[in-house]
Amino acid sequence: MHPLTTAINPSILAPMKTRVRYAPSPTGLQHIGGVRTAIFNYLFARATGGSFILRVEDTDQARTTPEAMNDLFETLEWLGIEPDEGPAKGGDFGPYIQSERQELYTQYAEQLVSEGKAYRCYCTSERLDQLREEQKANKSSVIGYDGHCRELTPEQEAELVKSNPNPVIRFKIDPRGSTTFHDELMGDITRKHKDISPDPVMLKADGFPTYHLANVIDDHLMEITHILRAQEWIPSGPLHVLLYQAFGWEPPKYCHLPMVMGKDGQKLSKRHGSTSVIEFRKQGCLPEALLNYVSLVGWSFDGEREFFTKDELEKVFSLEKINTSPGVFDYKKLEWFNGQYIRKLTPEQLQYELLPYLQEAKVVATPPTGDELGMVQNMLPLVQERLKYLSDIAPMVRFLFKDIETPSLEDLTPKKGTPEGVLQALQVAEALVPQVGTISEDELNDLFRAKAEELGMKLGSLMMPLRIALSGSSVSPPLFGSIELLGIEKSLERVAAAKVVAEQGVS
Ligand code: GLU
Ligand code: ZN
Repeated sequence: MHPLTTAINPSILAPMKTRVRYAPSPTGLQHIGGVRTAIFNYLFARATGGSFILRVEDTDQARTTPEAMNDLFETLEWLGIEPDEGPAKGGDFGPYIQSERQELYTQYAEQLVSEGKAYRCYCTSERLDQLREEQKANKSSVIGYDGHCRELTPEQEAELVKSNPNPVIRFKIDPRGSTTFHDELMGDITRKHKDISPDPVMLKADGFPTYHLANVIDDHLMEITHILRAQEWIPSGPLHVLLYQAFGWEPPKYCHLPMVMGKDGQKLSKRHGSTSVIEFRKQGCLPEALLNYVSLVGWSFDGEREFFTKDELEKVFSLEKINTSPGVFDYKKLEWFNGQYIRKLTPEQLQYELLPYLQEAKVVATPPTGDELGMVQNMLPLVQERLKYLSDIAPMVRFLFKDIETPSLEDLTPKKGTPEGVLQALQVAEALVPQVGTISEDELNDLFRAKAEELGMKLGSLMMPLRIALSGSSVSPPLFGSIELLGIEKSLERVAAAKVVAEQGVS
């Protein structure tokens, strides 16, 4: 080939294509913190025209469960964050499940051993336990492995392997010195080598790699360009950088994400409320609402705007706008977001979302009867403004579909109310209910208000017994709308039944 026609490597001209990954260990249900990491990676990949990879880190075989694995796939699908490469989708860099990549880890660990950068350690767990006890007793400044097998001769190894045929492989770290890695958000982070656990295990006695080895090898082989992960992994950063150096590889860019806290400033945990996504899902959180809200935990567009569709987020997301301070996960705020998203649904969508909750609570039959469907359609406008989570629906509207137990006098009586007051209120109700649907709501309100004044009662005290008589509950959809749905006849029956209870209380 003529020297001048040497092809230019296109990668020099084209900007590096971003490749990011979500790399969960399926040992439990997907929680808010985890999906926040997944969402940020996904959005960053989309915003930069790159690839989002799902890699399952299941090297801790004892803690990996099939339920957790299912939950992982289902949660991502539900949220609509589909990986470009992953266990289900496949791709050029697979397999994407670490337990299926075993040979690679062994091979690379052996490479480090043959280069003198790692070594076999034959120490039994008994020896290490005993060592620990002694170190504690002597108040030693180092607790843990003592480098016992660092410089074994081949003869010594041949002897030791007889008593322990399954040695681990440890990575040699010079206890002097320190290693720095750069984090895009936090700046340079330095750790003294003596603070990294001495010569950490890379390959365990069962032949499985530790998180560090598998993670570094896979990020390199999968050509990951940016690592967006939880801040709890910062302490592992220097060790990973040392491993990249040992292999002669270029580390990716690091961007550790701000912690997710509860409102009290503590790391988000079960103490704050449900944290697993499946619980929010069961409660009737819409995926669009969760995605939108969670994307704001630790990231903001301009500090003002809050509503974003997934498509919009895929365009505007950027690493520069990730906060360094922890993000607060506010349950009330998510609830509010969800309510807003529920209001945006079309009647068809809302009906589709609500039916499963009504069926499960046996408010309607499965499949619903024609009458039930009619009632569902009619009640939609009444409830749409009031729902926070979809699961609110069953207790809210049961009274429209099912007979209710006649409320007790105690239930019918407002705070500071009397049985006489309840009876009066129900008598007024009896007289006014037949007008519902024949005159406007404003006119109805005026009639009730006039009555309240005449009787010297508060409007609330006048209307509350009616609401409870009809629905059995002090919180229900708007009163006049409910009466229309229930029908005048049935409404009057319930008022009459409640009146009997009130009369007994008076006499
Ligand atoms: N498997 C680790 C986890 O469960 C991955 C951490 C990382 O992203 O490097 O979070
Ligand atoms: Zn050893």
